Amino acid sequence: MTDIVIDGATRTFGTVRAVDGVNLTVGEGEFFTLLGPSGCGKTTLLRMIAGFCELDAGQIRFGAKRIDTLPAHTRDIGMVFQNYAVFPNLTVAGNVAYGLKARKVPAAEVARRVEEALSLVQLGGYGERWPHQLSGGQLQRVAIARALVIRPQVLLFDEPLSNLDARLRVSMRAEIRELQKSLGITAIYVTHDQEEAMSVSDRIALMQSGRLEQVGAPAEIYRQPASRFAAEFMGTTNLLEPKVLGLAGTGMISLRPEALRLDAEAPSGWPRLSGAVTHVEILGPITRFDVQLADGALIRVASLDEPHRTLAAGAQVTLAYDPARVTVLP
Ligand code: ATP
Repeated sequence: MTDIVIDGATRTFGTVRAVDGVNLTVGEGEFFTLLGPSGCGKTTLLRMIAGFCELDAGQIRFGAKRIDTLPAHTRDIGMVFQNYAVFPNLTVAGNVAYGLKARKVPAAEVARRVEEALSLVQLGGYGERWPHQLSGGQLQRVAIARALVIRPQVLLFDEPLSNLDARLRVSMRAEIRELQKSLGITAIYVTHDQEEAMSVSDRIALMQSGRLEQVGAPAEIYRQPASRFAAEFMGTTNLLEPKVLGLAGTGMISLRPEALRLDAEAPSGWPRLSGAVTHVEILGPITRFDVQLADGALIRVASLDEPHRTLAAGAQVTLAYDPARVTVLP
């Protein structure tokens, strides 16, 4: 197996350029996420790789081999869908065996590989159950086992955790990540949830309007957003005019809430700003508060310290910010 190369991939629906000249290389064994708001084209791009959506222009290759012209079932790809797509009239084992039977694998080997795939997703011994007897998380594990059992080179995930509750999403995403790493399989994962993307991915492609906005490691995009869109999509940020921080220049500055602290808690070398607290929220591990500066700018601060012991709306405070965390946006 080699890299997946997406070369100028384009698809238009009516007047909408769903995917607009995307160039991307996903490395072997990489966990790569397509991230972006609803309608940005991430599902269309994933479906192009899977073989469920034709390209108007461009190519997709596995190494040197062009695959976008091949039928979906010959592409050596497993896919996991948001709604599980588990067949209700087949047992768990029947569901997982489906792809093997379609490939005419002998019965004894089917049984062995089904059990092996089920134990990989912590469902060993569940083969004779019916889908209606399973929880959402278990159904999604069946879907993952069904995708894995054919031993594909590439696993595609289309918002696989969207139908699960918040707590289960967090544990399932860690499970998916561990499974992918232990099998060394290449994964391309679609989500609109930036936290989920950051937690599982080696690299992320942030998309907007069918184009790639920024590609990089999660921390890289978070710390060095290439645009206002990237800065805001990757988490809460303060978008400020440079003069608010006493800096010259045009454009906007992004300063994350956690790059600010109260005066007393900050290194002496950090620049200071003064203002009045307008709002305090205690969120458990962090305290979030807003400070209105003399010139009117509102700054959001997220602190791991416990400033809420002394802070209340109306209090005059001096803030300090880490100058290394100031990002100038083009
Ligand atoms: P979501 O998170 O809501 O699924 P997405 O980022 O996956 O969004 P796509 O589903 O790829 O976005 O859609 C991109 C654009 O293409 C949207 O404007 C969508 O309405 C349009 N589109 C996608 N599929 C079709 C189709 N089969 N026919 C017409 N328009 C389509």
